[in-house]
Amino acid sequence: MKILVTNDDGIDAPGLWALAAELAKVSEVVLFAPDREQSGTGTAITLRRSVTFAEVKSKLPRVKAYAVEGTPADSVLIGLEVARDVAAVFSGINRGANMGNDVLLSGTVGAALQGYFGGLPSVALSVVWSDEVCFEAGAKLAGLLARRILRGNSQSMLLNVNLPNLPLEVIQGVEVTRVGRGGYSSAIRMGRDGGKNNFRIQIGQPQWDPEEGTDIHAVVNGKVSITPLQGTLGTAEGIPFLDGSLPALLQELSP
Ligand code: MN
Repeated sequence: MKILVTNDDGIDAPGLWALAAELAKVSEVVLFAPDREQSGTGTAITLRRSVTFAEVKSKLPRVKAYAVEGTPADSVLIGLEVARDVAAVFSGINRGANMGNDVLLSGTVGAALQGYFGGLPSVALSVVWSDEVCFEAGAKLAGLLARRILRGNSQSMLLNVNLPNLPLEVIQGVEVTRVGRGGYSSAIRMGRDGGKNNFRIQIGQPQWDPEEGTDIHAVVNGKVSITPLQGTLGTAEGIPFLDGSLPALLQELSP
């Protein structure tokens, strides 16, 4: 049984190796990660072209590492194919929180989602952005979760873990949360190059709604947030737009 480790910050990111080092104390670890930064690629997979991958020099003894010239989700797909007896997928540790709206944009979560779709317990881990990110608490928590998963709690699940950028001894606790609202802000900067219009999406300050019970509330209050996610995005509640207009719409649609 192995743990497949991946991320979206790329194979050289320190958070990836901090995670792999801690998980290697628990189980055999194999690493499949994008060969470059792939933040914001969400659940994307590469279609209509081949994706290369190659073993690279590992920073850890007994841990094989492969760089994938594709997305985080691609990395998990090929990792599950090559490594075979994978018991769990861990993704991260991402530099920058993935809470609220950012859950759907995150390559860190997108990679873990592929593990979950594959029927495996899958965990995404992220720490609030800073110039100096502290991965210690996230790595330790990953090790504890992995121990419990490998001990037999191997149900398919998807956990999105976010941590404040704090040393372990100042963290205020751990909370099971739901996905909140808001996320990192973005702005469009227009430009022109070689006679063509272009634009660049610039990520700015987080605009987080700290509603109680959410991932955002826990983390801004110095706690670790563990959010169980599902692959189904629908809501059981109706929305007035459909309730009001559906009968007429169906009538107009019928031949
Ligand atoms: Mn990232």
